[in-house]
Amino acid sequence: LDPTGENFSPEEYEVERALRPLSFDDFAGQDQVLENLQIFVKAANLRGEALDHTLFHGPPGLGKTTLAHILANELNAGIKVTSGPVLDKPGDLAGLLTNLEDRDVLFIDEIHRLSPVIEEYLYSAMEDFKIDIMIETGPNARTVQIDLNQFTLVGATTRSGLLTAPMRARFGISSRLQYYSTELLSDIIQRSAEILKMPITLEAAIEIAGRSRGTPRIANALLRRIRDFAQIKGNGKIDIEISKFGLKALNVDVNGLDEMDNKILVTIIDKFKGGPVGITTLATAVSESAETIEEVYEPFLIQQGFIIRTPRGREVTEAAYKHLGKTRPHSQGG
Ligand code: ADP
Repeated sequence: LDPTGENFSPEEYEVERALRPLSFDDFAGQDQVLENLQIFVKAANLRGEALDHTLFHGPPGLGKTTLAHILANELNAGIKVTSGPVLDKPGDLAGLLTNLEDRDVLFIDEIHRLSPVIEEYLYSAMEDFKIDIMIETGPNARTVQIDLNQFTLVGATTRSGLLTAPMRARFGISSRLQYYSTELLSDIIQRSAEILKMPITLEAAIEIAGRSRGTPRIANALLRRIRDFAQIKGNGKIDIEISKFGLKALNVDVNGLDEMDNKILVTIIDKFKGGPVGITTLATAVSESAETIEEVYEPFLIQQGFIIRTPRGREVTEAAYKHLGKTRPHSQGG
C-alpha cells in the first residue's frame, strides 16, 4: 500500500481521479482548513481577484492535490499542474506562466524540490505578476519584462521544513493537513463505493477505514482491492466477512501501520531498548532520511500513541510493545 501513489498503475491512477472530490461540499474533514479556504475564496470571487498564493503541507495522500483542483473549481478558474522535480528549465516555467489566464491556479507539487534558479524566477512572478525573459544571445542578448495575468500559485509539500524561507514568505495562505479519523475515512469509503457502484455495509466501511493509516488514498486503494475479493470470492457486496478476509490476504496491519512504521517501532525496541533514541541515529538504523521520518512516519505514529517525543529523543510506548506482541523489559534500577 503506497500512501504516495507513486507506484500506481495507469488504471489505478484513473480510478483515483474518478474518486477525487470536486467541490468543497464533497471534501470530508480538515474542517478548520476548509472553513478558512471557503472564506478566502468567497472574498476573492467577490472582488474578482486571484486568490492569495496557497501552500498545503502534510503527509502524502491527505488531499493536497485534491484541494488544489477544488480551489480552481470554486474560483471558476483553470488549473495547470506541474511538480518541483519536473520543472527544471526557466523556459518551461515561463511557458506555463505566460499561458495562465486571469485568476488561474498553477499547482506545483513537491514544491520543496524546485531548483534555486526556478525558485528565483518564481519570486517576481508571485510577487508582481511579472517575469524577465532573456531574448536573443551573444552581443544582442537582453531581457524583456513580461506582464502576467494574476494567478494563484498553489504549492504542495510533504516536507515543509525543506522549503526556503523566502519561498515560504510568499504564500499568503498556508495550511497543514491532518490525518483523518476512522469515522471520516469511513464516510470517504462509502462515498467512493457509491461512485464505484459497489454496495458496502457500514461495518465493512468502518473496518477498512480503521486500517487505512489515517489516509484517504490508502482507504480508497484498500476499497478497490477488497472490491476484487468481493466480486471474485464473495457475493458481489462488501460486507464485514469479505473485508476481513481481504485485509488478511493483503497482509494489512490491524492498526493500519505500514512496513516502515513497523520497522521504526521494531528498531527502537530491538536496537535501542525502547528508546529514547535521537532522530539521526534512528534514521541511519532504518535506512531512511531523518526528514522523511519526521514528516511522513513519525506524525502518524505519535498520533496513534505508539511513539512519544522526549527531549532526549523518540521513545516507544506500551502500546507499541503490545501491537508487536513484545513484552517491555523491566527497567534496570529505576
Ligand atoms: P496528496 O496530494 O496530499 O498526496 P491527493 O489529493 O492526491 O493527496 O488525495 C489522494 C486521494 O485521496 C484522492 O484521489 C482522493 O480521492 C482522496 N481524498 C483525499 N482527501 C479526501 C477527502 N477529504 N475526501 C474524500 N477523498 C479524499
